[in-house]
Amino acid sequence: MYRTYALSAHTRQRHGGRVQKIPLDAGFSCPNRDGTLSTQGCIFCNPAGSGSGMVQRGLTIPEQWDFWRDIHSRHHHSELFTAYLQSYSNTHGPIDRLARVLERLRGLPGLAAVSIGTRPDCLDRDKLDLLAAQREALGLAEVSLEMGLQSANDDTLAFINRGHDARTFADAARQAHDRGISVVAHVIAGLPTRDGRENGDDLIATVKFINGLPVNGIKFHNLYVARGTPLARLHDQGRYAPLTLDDYLHQLGDALMHLSPKTVVHRLNGNPAEGELVAPGWAGNMRALHNTVRAHLEARDIWQGKLNGAEAGPPAWFSPEYKGELP
Ligand code: SF4
Repeated sequence: MYRTYALSAHTRQRHGGRVQKIPLDAGFSCPNRDGTLSTQGCIFCNPAGSGSGMVQRGLTIPEQWDFWRDIHSRHHHSELFTAYLQSYSNTHGPIDRLARVLERLRGLPGLAAVSIGTRPDCLDRDKLDLLAAQREALGLAEVSLEMGLQSANDDTLAFINRGHDARTFADAARQAHDRGISVVAHVIAGLPTRDGRENGDDLIATVKFINGLPVNGIKFHNLYVARGTPLARLHDQGRYAPLTLDDYLHQLGDALMHLSPKTVVHRLNGNPAEGELVAPGWAGNMRALHNTVRAHLEARDIWQGKLNGAEAGPPAWFSPEYKGELP
């Protein structure tokens, strides 16, 4: 039984097969690191883990593309690809810079879609108009924004030094949707707060906030402590303890039941970069954790939307073989 509307199913329904994401580093920075908002970054952010390092190695976007495309073509026989501008905040800075980066995507072999990682406070009308225009100009099936929300609770966002509030995310999501740009929200379970840690109700509240917005997809992350971060210092001082695996499974399962069954689930857990994980140990093996999450959903008979519109059972579109109208 398919228990979530997984990205793999959605991609197959939309594009007729696999579309492999290629991570690209365009050399952008982040306003929460370069001093525009702060130099500290979000409490959990490891600057070394936020970029692929390919720009530092002198690789241009087409060279990065060829490097990954060659690997995926050989190993997965992939023919279609999404350009994923992943590192840092890729709409930060002058619009001309964004325009130049988008122009470099023109003509990349196999390019089917563009996905742009950014912060909601790094978008304005002109940049969104540019993204919408580029979708037409590059003949793309989809342009999407991967935006960090992390939590819908403004007190939590302030404590983790996020530098924007939930309303900023909501405004950016609506403006993107109005221009035909898809939005994928990133959320994190187990964030630290002034008096401890967010709990399962907080994660459900964040999911309900997203349900009320024109958000197409979601990435769930379990918060882990990364080396060299402010969170690692809190952890060392005994002021932050990560979720146990059991806590995460229960929080995620409950949140999924409240999530709209139409929202595409891109991820169910985080993936620490090599060498950065301090705690918890269970977060270290992404594939094993993914399988554990799947087993938990099975054992508890959980499916996405079970408490939000899909009470009768998982909808037909959860299956990659679904041929009907997309939700
Ligand atoms: S917005 Fe992203 S890159 Fe910037 S500090 Fe936060 S997590 Fe790091």
